[in-house]
Amino acid sequence: MSKTAKKPSAESFKPAEPSLLPADSENSELTILLKAYLSQDEIEQVWDAYRFSAKAHEGQIRKSGEPYITHPVAVACILAKLHLDVPTLLAALLHDVVEDTGVPITELTERYGEQVAELVEGLTKLDKIELQTAVQAQAENVRKMLLAMSQDVRVILVKLADRLHNMQTLGVMKPAKQKRISRETLDIYAPIANRLGLNVVYQELEDLSFSYIYPNRYQVIQKAVKTARGNRKEVISKILKSIEGQLAEAEIGAEIEGREKHLYSIYKKMVAKTLKLSQVSDIYGFRVLVQDTPTCYLTLGSLHSLYKPIPGKFKDYIAIPKVNGYQSLHTTLFGPFGTPIEVQIRSTAMHNIAQAGVAAHWLYKTTDAHLTQLQQQTHQWLQRLVEIQTESDDSHEFLEHFKIDLFPDEVYVFTPKGNILALPKGSTAVDFAYAVHTDVGNCCVAVKINHELAPLRSVMRNGDHVEIITSAMAKPNPAWLNYVVTGKARSHLRHYLKTIKVAESAQLGQRMLNIALRALHVEPTDITDKQWTKIMSDYGAKDKSEILADIGLGKRVSLMVAHQLLAIVHEEE
Ligand code: MN
Repeated sequence: MSKTAKKPSAESFKPAEPSLLPADSENSELTILLKAYLSQDEIEQVWDAYRFSAKAHEGQIRKSGEPYITHPVAVACILAKLHLDVPTLLAALLHDVVEDTGVPITELTERYGEQVAELVEGLTKLDKIELQTAVQAQAENVRKMLLAMSQDVRVILVKLADRLHNMQTLGVMKPAKQKRISRETLDIYAPIANRLGLNVVYQELEDLSFSYIYPNRYQVIQKAVKTARGNRKEVISKILKSIEGQLAEAEIGAEIEGREKHLYSIYKKMVAKTLKLSQVSDIYGFRVLVQDTPTCYLTLGSLHSLYKPIPGKFKDYIAIPKVNGYQSLHTTLFGPFGTPIEVQIRSTAMHNIAQAGVAAHWLYKTTDAHLTQLQQQTHQWLQRLVEIQTESDDSHEFLEHFKIDLFPDEVYVFTPKGNILALPKGSTAVDFAYAVHTDVGNCCVAVKINHELAPLRSVMRNGDHVEIITSAMAKPNPAWLNYVVTGKARSHLRHYLKTIKVAESAQLGQRMLNIALRALHVEPTDITDKQWTKIMSDYGAKDKSEILADIGLGKRVSLMVAHQLLAIVHEEE
């Protein structure tokens, strides 16, 4: 089978040696990358932005001692490897110009057009807050990033490339700063890269962060993996040969490769399952790339007759893709020496998405239906996050929702109409109800799981058929907060409870105000709208119930409010 497109490999993102060639010369790293997919005309546009940026940054030096312009060029190189379009490359080259050199954004609009200026503006806004350290600032940072991202996913692609290059050159910083930046990368940027399916960027961000946060653990695992790799060469080639032989016999054209886990994923597995290093590194991994989807299943059958599959380990991510668009068949086989062999089987098209995620859209320029769907789903996901962020008024609370939504450990359940819904592991029927629709969540009273009545707190399992029973009279129950896990359900519940609280306090406040007014010999109904409007603007309140709720909550004294209401009349007389 012939390779139709170059795969971005882990090596391809290694930082280049600082080049002495200016980026606008024929043999610079950037130019060589651009020549692979852009016209001469387009390359010259990129060169122009490079010259503009180099001039603006002239005299500025990075902490490493290199001229500042090496940084935007490196960011552009990372994006050129993903074949991103010209506006994105221009934005990458210009991303620090507005903030660090005082070139006004209007000048970029004039020179490079609205689109590029908007991308740069989105990136500039993100950078401003990054300098702060508090959790609050981090949450604010994420909020802004989401807003920028939901408008144009290319903003986040540049941001990720920017972060990747900063991580690659983090060595010159002080250890405390290295740790802080690495922690932020691990918490926010790596999960976003993962969620967007940018596998190569994701793995490198994780491994770099890991190496700064736990330098010793990183080294131990790195060394052990290297040794194991050397020791296993013979076994691996033996397994490889028998797989190749088996597939050749079945006349299946396939490309088979050994698969190495990245170091941080090995570490995570050790921690999560309390395994010894040898138990993790003793697993052999192979990847089989074939022509198309039917061949994936043929290959699976063929391999299951070569080595016995381990029951319960088979996963069909082709029929039910992961949320980031990932598709593959996963199976684990009993190897020739009793060692487990993990095999991933996928088509070339699936492989492209597995490596580059949303960026595959630019990298492969295909009209693959699955890829179009992935773009739409990504857009929907971003919209959903923006929805959550507008509903949570506390930025820390929002960050929690966001983190929950980012880790795609999921279960898949069926709606009554047979649609598949992906929910985070541990989700309950209430989460399901809110995932279907806010109104369904707010009005749910019971649930049928696989056609049998079950409590609303029931945890969803893969393949469950779930039907929510609603009642127009029903209201959300505060106790649900104890067992919902999705950001959406949690933020809707909190929002509802806050509204309820305000309404109850306002009722109490009204009663207290009535008593105060009567004590001053005024009937509450005699207070005019005019008086209310005036007092609202005096207090800076957005409506009457806000003032009443304040009274109910003890933030304002009822008698004072009564006096002020009456004073308004006297003013006018
Ligand atoms: Mn930068």
